[in-house]
Amino acid sequence: MLVNNIPYKTYLAESEIPNAWYNLRADMKVKPAPLLNPGTGKPLTADELTPIFCEELVKQELDNDTPYFPIPKEILDFYKMYRPSPLVRAYCLEKVLDTPARIYYKFEGNNTSGSHKLNSAIAQAYYAKQQGLKGVTTETGAGQWGTALSMACAYLGLDCKVFMVKVSYEQKPFRREVMRTYGASVTPSPSMETEVGKKILAEHPGTTGSLGCAISEAVEVAVKNPGYRYVLGSVLNQVLLHQSIIGLEAKAAFDKIGVRPDIIIGCAGGGSNLGGLIAPFMGEKLRGEADYRIIAVEPASCPSFTRGKFAYDFCDTGMICPLAKMYTLGSSFIPSPNHAGGSEGILPAPESSHAIRAAIDEALKCKESGEQKDILFGLTGTGYFDLKAYEQFNDGVMTDYIPTDEDLAKGFAGLPKIDA
Ligand SMILES: *Cc1c(COP(=O)(O)O)cnc(C)c1O
Repeated sequence: MLVNNIPYKTYLAESEIPNAWYNLRADMKVKPAPLLNPGTGKPLTADELTPIFCEELVKQELDNDTPYFPIPKEILDFYKMYRPSPLVRAYCLEKVLDTPARIYYKFEGNNTSGSHKLNSAIAQAYYAKQQGLKGVTTETGAGQWGTALSMACAYLGLDCKVFMVKVSYEQKPFRREVMRTYGASVTPSPSMETEVGKKILAEHPGTTGSLGCAISEAVEVAVKNPGYRYVLGSVLNQVLLHQSIIGLEAKAAFDKIGVRPDIIIGCAGGGSNLGGLIAPFMGEKLRGEADYRIIAVEPASCPSFTRGKFAYDFCDTGMICPLAKMYTLGSSFIPSPNHAGGSEGILPAPESSHAIRAAIDEALKCKESGEQKDILFGLTGTGYFDLKAYEQFNDGVMTDYIPTDEDLAKGFAGLPKIDA
């Protein structure tokens, strides 16, 4: 369909799917701070990381210089089952807002797993298979990562063990069942299956769990079982590298229709969809070739960017993982178990709604100023598995807890003492 000469959905041809991931670090003058060994406080070497992560992924993790990584043919073939993902002009939303702004979204929810997580899941599973491993372990919060990974593992014939944050395990039985249908084993975390799970349960009986606890459990199982490695669905450099496919496709589609977005918006949890969406645009910005306004949006209930500290911290509650420098609320911070929460004929994932809200705010500013800006936001997934949250919202019983400064101080008190 063509409206005002701009296609409603700008699909790239299959042959136009980018054939290399883009590593933004290559264009960063100040490189991200390295992962540190929690014991020595020294940067982690590849040798120290390979007992936990797959070898090829360790190389990607530590490479700050190579700008492009060719995407292996097997992964490209898998991508072709659901990519290129649509870049959609949100005409209905523009009309409702009565804004002169043009709003576009890159929709990552139209694969069976329902989110952008599949872009990295298939890559990580592929490298595990290449290495001859038996299987992988991981954590999942809301469940999208676990779903994506179990789908990728089923495709490649790998075993998949998922530790699912207990509150989600109970709130999202359908996600759990999709994972099990793909052959994954799903354990509510914290569990009695691991030493770290037992310890956390002893200290916090009745806890609804957190990603940090689930990570500790998954890492422990990977390290103790020969032929297994741990994989992570966000946060790491390698994940942002794989997710750059989102931004590369968006940029290629925009180039095709002769549009340059003024504002780019992504929701930020661990940062993978945001990092992937903005990668090629940020690259242009860093190289001084173009300028974009880039906005990250996060829930007030888990305010890492807006109220956190930029510091080295553990990535898990059990404090067995490498230290990473990041915006953090402290590894002991456990968010309250509430849920973050119509448009273009799709039901957005609750996470994406943060980005949608920011896009609406920007479009309304354009309405006031009369500016015709081009706004792009990342629509990371569908909300079909999150109907419990929609039900709570519709019934008016959704709770919304914003942590107090005292709540946050407790988390900051546990930051490791590293001067960097
Ligand atoms: C995981 C997820 C997010 C947040 O994770 P990031 O790593 O910040 O992208 C957002 N939306 C959906 C649908 C997700 O599955």
